[in-house]
Amino acid sequence: MTASCRACGGGPVRSFFDLGEMPLAGGFLTEAQIPGEQRYPLEISVCEGCSCVQITDPVDPEILFQDYSFKTGTVPGLVRHFVGFADWLKDTYAPATVVEFGANDGTLVAALEERGIRAIGVDLAGNITEMGRAEGRDLITGAFGPELVPVLCEKVGEASIVAGSNVFPHNAHPGPILEATDALLARDGVLVLEVMYAGDLLELLQWDTLYHEHLTFYSLGTLRTLLARFGFEPVEAVRLPMHGGSLRVAAARTGARSVGSSVAEVDAYESACGLNEVATWDGFADDCRRRIATFGDTMRRLGETSSIWAYGAAGKATMWVNVCAMGYLGGVVDASPLRAGKRMPGTHTPIVSPEEFKAQDPAPDYVFVSAWNYLDAIRGNEPQYEGYWIVPLPQMRIH
Ligand SMILES: [Zn+2]
Repeated sequence: MTASCRACGGGPVRSFFDLGEMPLAGGFLTEAQIPGEQRYPLEISVCEGCSCVQITDPVDPEILFQDYSFKTGTVPGLVRHFVGFADWLKDTYAPATVVEFGANDGTLVAALEERGIRAIGVDLAGNITEMGRAEGRDLITGAFGPELVPVLCEKVGEASIVAGSNVFPHNAHPGPILEATDALLARDGVLVLEVMYAGDLLELLQWDTLYHEHLTFYSLGTLRTLLARFGFEPVEAVRLPMHGGSLRVAAARTGARSVGSSVAEVDAYESACGLNEVATWDGFADDCRRRIATFGDTMRRLGETSSIWAYGAAGKATMWVNVCAMGYLGGVVDASPLRAGKRMPGTHTPIVSPEEFKAQDPAPDYVFVSAWNYLDAIRGNEPQYEGYWIVPLPQMRIH
C-alpha cells in the first residue's frame, strides 16, 4: 500500500490487479531494437478512500513517450471528433478565447479559429507543435503549468475556456494543470476535460486498456473529488464513444454556474453500477482474470493444431499477446505503414500489412481480432478471408 491518491490526495491506495512485467503497449520494435527491449511492472491500484483507479508508480515519462509520433490530424476519426468538440464548445458556452493543453498539432485550435474563436494550444511534443505551427496554428511548445500562465495571459488575456482532450489522465501530477487553469480562467470560465472513462472500462471489462501510458481512469465521482480540491465542480457531463469510451466533463468554480441535469444522470449511472465503490473493482479484476484464463487456454489449444494470426497491432494487442503468452501467432496484421515491418512488443511476432495477409497461402485457420472494437471494419476490409474471426471481449466469440 502507498499513500497519496491522484484524485483525493489521501488514500491508502492498494494494488487490485497485477499484470506482471509487461513491455510498453506502444513499444513496437525494429529487429535491431529487440535485444534492448525492457519490461516494467504493471500494477493497477484503487484508492480505498475515493475508489479512483490508477497506476501509482508510473514509468518515467521520458521513456513512456520517447517515440511520440502520433499526430491527431492524420486520424480522420479524431479530426471529426475535434470538429464536433469545437461545435459543442461554441454552442454551449460561446467562448471568446480558448486555451487547450495537450493540443498536439492544433486540430481543435484550427476548428475553433474557423468558428471565430481565438484559440491557442500548448503541447510538450516539439516536433508535433512545429508541424501545427507550419499549418498556421498558434501553438506553444512546453508543459501547461503555472510557469506558462504569464505567457498565455499576454497572448489571450483571461480565458473563457481551458480544454484538455485525452491528455489529463496521462499526467501523474494533475495539480499544476488545475492551478494554471485557476490562474487563467475568467471568473465564470469553464474547464472542459475529456478523459478515458472508468464506466466503460468496467462495463466492457476493457482490461486491455490498462497499460503503462494510461495512468488514471477517472469517473465523474473521482474527478469531482479532485476538482473540489482546486475550487471547481462539474457542471456538465457527457459520455463519448472516443477511445473505447470517454467522459467529457465541464467544470466551473464552485457556485459560479448552475449544474446541468447531465451531471445527475451520470451520477445516477455511477451509483447504479457501483463505479465509485472499491469492492466493484475487486470484482472487475476477478472477472477479467477469468476471461483472460479462458481465452488464453482456448487459443493455446487451438494453436497446437491450427494456424492463428492476429489483426490490429494496437496497444490492446500488446496486452493480449503478452498476458496470454501468444508466441505461437504467425503474424499480426496492421494497415499502418509505421507498424508493418516491425515486431510486436514482448512476443516479437512480425507485424505485416493487409496486402501480405491477403497473399498468405494457405490463409491462417483463425484470426484473433486484437483490435476487437473494429471487428466490422476489419471484416469489411478482408471479404476474401474464409476462416474464423475470434473476438476476446466482452465475451469470447468465434465468427
Ligand atoms: Zn483517493
